[in-house]
Amino acid sequence: PGPVLTIPQLLHSRAAVVPQQAAVEFEARTWTYAQLAAGSTALAHRLAVMGVRSGDRVAHVETNSDIAVLLFLATVSLGAIFVPMNPALTDDDLAYQIDHCGAMLVATSAAEAPRFDALLLRLGPVAQRLLLEDVGLAAAAADDVLAMLPADCATTLPVLTPQTPALVIYTSGTTGRPKGVLHSHGNYVLSAEAFVGRLDLQPDDRLLTVFPLFHINALFYSLGGALAAGAAFITARRFSASSFWSLAARTRATELNILASLAKILAVRPRSEFDPTHRIRVIYGGPITAEMFEVYRNQFHVPHLLEGYGMSEIPAATCNPLHGEQKLGSIGLAGTHPLRDGPFVEMRICDDQGQPVPDGTVGELQVRTPTMFLGYLNDPEQTSASFQDGWFRTGDLVRRDADGYHYFVARQKDIIRRGGENISGAELDRVVESHPLVAQAAAIAVPSELGEDEVLIAVVAAPGAQLSLEDLAAWCRARLAPLKQPRYVVFVDTLPQTPTQRVAKHLLRQESSALLARARDMR
Ligand code: ATP
Ligand code: MG
Repeated sequence: PGPVLTIPQLLHSRAAVVPQQAAVEFEARTWTYAQLAAGSTALAHRLAVMGVRSGDRVAHVETNSDIAVLLFLATVSLGAIFVPMNPALTDDDLAYQIDHCGAMLVATSAAEAPRFDALLLRLGPVAQRLLLEDVGLAAAAADDVLAMLPADCATTLPVLTPQTPALVIYTSGTTGRPKGVLHSHGNYVLSAEAFVGRLDLQPDDRLLTVFPLFHINALFYSLGGALAAGAAFITARRFSASSFWSLAARTRATELNILASLAKILAVRPRSEFDPTHRIRVIYGGPITAEMFEVYRNQFHVPHLLEGYGMSEIPAATCNPLHGEQKLGSIGLAGTHPLRDGPFVEMRICDDQGQPVPDGTVGELQVRTPTMFLGYLNDPEQTSASFQDGWFRTGDLVRRDADGYHYFVARQKDIIRRGGENISGAELDRVVESHPLVAQAAAIAVPSELGEDEVLIAVVAAPGAQLSLEDLAAWCRARLAPLKQPRYVVFVDTLPQTPTQRVAKHLLRQESSALLARARDMR
């Protein structure tokens, strides 16, 4: 690997080599690398005039757009820190994040402005508001956006290093309140290069993201991967399953990064306007079934469907190899590109005492990598609690086979202890969710009369489905050992979700007595 670049160096070096190549596409607007470099510099000067300085936090609270990308690049070129936030958060949660990161500027659209004026008033005179329309959100073409930005760029941009903080990603909040994960320029660029190596990305690749930019997959993998490869990043305001495949066809996407839950939804949608010469690679997180894998390979002509694993703290953790054996159900190898990320990502699996365990044994995955986050923003206790002798404790239980492939078992906090055995909540969720009449399921521990844990499973039935207790009990008996059988089931309309569409089990656990009171005994 060569020297580590900063994010502006990465952008400007691509603009020098492939100036006319498409860099970002959003709705009717396309940005070449030359335009993106010019636009981000011009916007940086505009932000500097508004008072943004090195180290300041700039929040973006809107759906995806090319202007969001521009704002990210402009912010980091000032040495300031970009903090993408989820516009769907409640006012309280947004106020918490704006206050927690100490944002001095909040960028949002005109439609959302009244909401933010009220919010910012409530927080006191801490942050200014920037209207995205004022910097081009409603413009027709990239050149029209450029015409709205200052032509005279008088501000001197600061000197940055790979260690300079660049962005904060809030975690999904699956296990508690979202944590602000701080990343440097070097983390971003190295992770992006690892992604290029893994997927063998080329300048003619077109990376379509269905993730929002406040999620690591969109910002680090799809955008970062595109910038590092000199390829195109394509995004849209929002995605619908019904129009997804036509969007992929229209934009001629070659690379797609999704969650297993979305892969499941898309697998039953016909791939419309299908052109068999149009090849797409798909990288996904979370388990999918062998049947679904075959649908993608045989009906959708997706030649590479690779499961990977990562987290806000460690973007490029594991992935199945593009060239080499893919193991279904495995999250893959630690670093699959021998030159780029092979020597970088070190992983070990440890027991409760923090001692490494042999291959085949389940334990906590710990990671050491040069793309390690800088720490949790304003939370030194949580940061130091997450490390053991320089290794990051993922809190995920994982097993490794003799070939070095990793298998995700469960989050440590999702383990249910019963009869002296550890049961993975995630495994129960998976088994129940594989029932055709089930949309979503979440298992949690509830106390039993004997003082030991019992398993309660909360189930959302598929739309319009009539799912009986007996049917569900028989399904579980056929697939789970007696010890793992859920004792109680409760049918619910919805489960508490994190902003990234995961079940927020910590919120479900808080309601456990109420759920237990409504639950039916499966025995
Ligand atoms: P919080 O840290 O606030 O509880 P979170 O961990 O859900 O939230 P993210 O950083 O978005 O927030 O998610 C990372 C986690 O997602 C990983 O630690 C792991 O538990 C889970 N994950 C990632 N990839 C996979 C995968 N392929 N299979 C199963 N789980 C995965
Ligand atoms: Mg986490």
